[in-house]
Amino acid sequence: MNFGPSRLYPTHRYLLKNGVSKLDRLLVLNGTIAWKDNRFKRVKLNLRHALREQQQGRCIFCRRMITIERRNALEDIEHYLDKSKPHYKKWIFCPVNLTIACRPCNFVKSTAELGDAAVVTANEYVATMGVFKWIHPYFDDYHQNIEILNGWVYRVRPAAPNPQAAKNMIRDLQLDNLATMHAYATEVKGKILRLTELASKAVQMNNLPRAQALLQASKVYQQQVWPDY
Ligand SMILES: [Zn+2]
Repeated sequence: MNFGPSRLYPTHRYLLKNGVSKLDRLLVLNGTIAWKDNRFKRVKLNLRHALREQQQGRCIFCRRMITIERRNALEDIEHYLDKSKPHYKKWIFCPVNLTIACRPCNFVKSTAELGDAAVVTANEYVATMGVFKWIHPYFDDYHQNIEILNGWVYRVRPAAPNPQAAKNMIRDLQLDNLATMHAYATEVKGKILRLTELASKAVQMNNLPRAQALLQASKVYQQQVWPDY
């Protein structure tokens, strides 16, 4: 099973360089405008595309596929160091601070503080700036640290280079919470069922392209549930 890349590379750096003017950066830093300002719509769209491709459509944390329908609603641009904290505002457009995460992970992560005192005060965003509480998407190797077993069971990999961060991330995101996994699987199964019903209706109405599109969408969901669910 492929759970996406071990680590990310800031290949989208140019998108930020070209897409966000120096003035806009200053305006964000001094609080005049926010990340959600309309002027960043395009650069965010481009970022989403670039990150989605690099992350192979998967959430950076739980590594589940982020589904196609209503993608904008389900997929969040995630700031590893929380953009709402004053001390991390300066990293709001920093390429190595950006990833995409699924809505449930983003929700659980919320405004968690992922840096130690050295990270908080650092002036340069680099791997050695301090200790990160979770596996860092650009500086750590996900698969060397976290193992995903059948049934979406997460484990710190034996001899992990950064076992503490792996442990924290699994615990804080409740990745190993069985109830969460069951709820998720049930929800996805419901979606698969619904899409299959709609596809069969489309066939009845002789709308084969629609039926095909619906079945294609259900395939994406099927990749998210394991056979034992
Ligand atoms: Zn996730």
